[in-house]
Amino acid sequence: METRTVYFIEGDGIGPEVWAAGRPVLDAAVAKAFGGQKKLEWKEILAGKKAFDQTGNYLPDATMETLKSADLAFKGPLETPVGGGFRSLNVTLRQVLDLYACIRPIRYFQGIESPVKRPDLVDMVVFRENTEDVYAGIEWASGTPEAKKLIAFLRDELGKNVDETAGIGIKPMTPAGSKRLVRKAIRFALDQNKPSVTMAHKGNIMKYTEGAFRAWGYEMAKAEFAAEVMTEEEAKAGAKKRLILNDRIADAMFQNVLMYPEQYSVIATPNLNGDYLSDALAAQVGGLGLAPGVNMSERLAFFEPTHGTAPSIAGKDMANPGSLVLSGAMLLEHIGWHDAAKLIHKAVEKVLSGKQVTVDLAGQIPGSTQVGCKKFGELLQ
Ligand code: NAD
Repeated sequence: METRTVYFIEGDGIGPEVWAAGRPVLDAAVAKAFGGQKKLEWKEILAGKKAFDQTGNYLPDATMETLKSADLAFKGPLETPVGGGFRSLNVTLRQVLDLYACIRPIRYFQGIESPVKRPDLVDMVVFRENTEDVYAGIEWASGTPEAKKLIAFLRDELGKNVDETAGIGIKPMTPAGSKRLVRKAIRFALDQNKPSVTMAHKGNIMKYTEGAFRAWGYEMAKAEFAAEVMTEEEAKAGAKKRLILNDRIADAMFQNVLMYPEQYSVIATPNLNGDYLSDALAAQVGGLGLAPGVNMSERLAFFEPTHGTAPSIAGKDMANPGSLVLSGAMLLEHIGWHDAAKLIHKAVEKVLSGKQVTVDLAGQIPGSTQVGCKKFGELLQ
């Protein structure tokens, strides 16, 4: 019997409900696919309100110690405690564990109403850089001594004409940070036999951050993947290798994924672009209700549904466990248990075509009837 240990955080709000409904779906798929030869071993670790109630700490040291040496973990949504001494539990986890790649696959499930004509052509995986760019949080409000000091420096030392009332934000992007993200996207694309990786950037305007991201990506690919990866130009000139690495300016990228979704497969992008792009793509296939995700460091793959704690429906058996279940399918793919992951995708397709769905999806599937969170989980098994 092969077992893999998964450390899990139940999460706040709808977290306990979506776990109770979703985890049995994952276990059932593994049992069905491997006839009892493989098993996920779930070990709970504490964070969020449950941790605070039991230990007086929202993010206990024991949890961080476990996560630092783990390779698989899974979390439900966490509420940001007001006055808990954190900017956000999620941001703290990301920073301390160096979860530098936020990975979101986006695919269409038949039957869901979509704002575009051919949502079925959308099958992309977004690799969003998670630690740099404007999200690093280096900014000062208009009129503060820090902002004034920086503006004076920019004017006096660097000759830049910045209005003295400006708020100031800094956008740091490094060669190492950019290269490791593009590297991860390329490795994934090669592993999964995807045809291309596209770097989406605004390098025509922000030359030394976004433009450099593009240049560093190509440089790294040339140095490390010369045998497998070719550029678009090389492909046009007749080269034959396993993967194309190309790039698009971010504004064109938003048009292209709407007009020619079939041309895009894996997308590697800096933090802010990735934020916009992954939600826009999710909307193209019918919203965030079925959107899974993972945040990864070099060591840890930390899976999570992309939704929050949904406080207005928490405890009412109304939440959709689909995003958690599909995050579980990502975990199974990540550890190479592909047959179980496929069973989960098939189950979601089947249940959606049966039109018995949770309230959020009922609004998007004409002619459907509404079921609770628990029942939806049972239908998926
Ligand atoms: P949210 O995702 O919780 O809710 C947005 C809307 O979607 C609400 O109408 C909600 O009812 C609905 N919704 C969300 N998940 C659903 C599900 N599984 N099934 C059915 N409907 C669902 O976002 P929010 O309201 O902006 O945030 C609420 C709290 O969650 C905040 O404290 C926020 O900090 C936290 N949050 C946590 C994470 C995370 O841990 N990864 C992500 C986002 C928000």
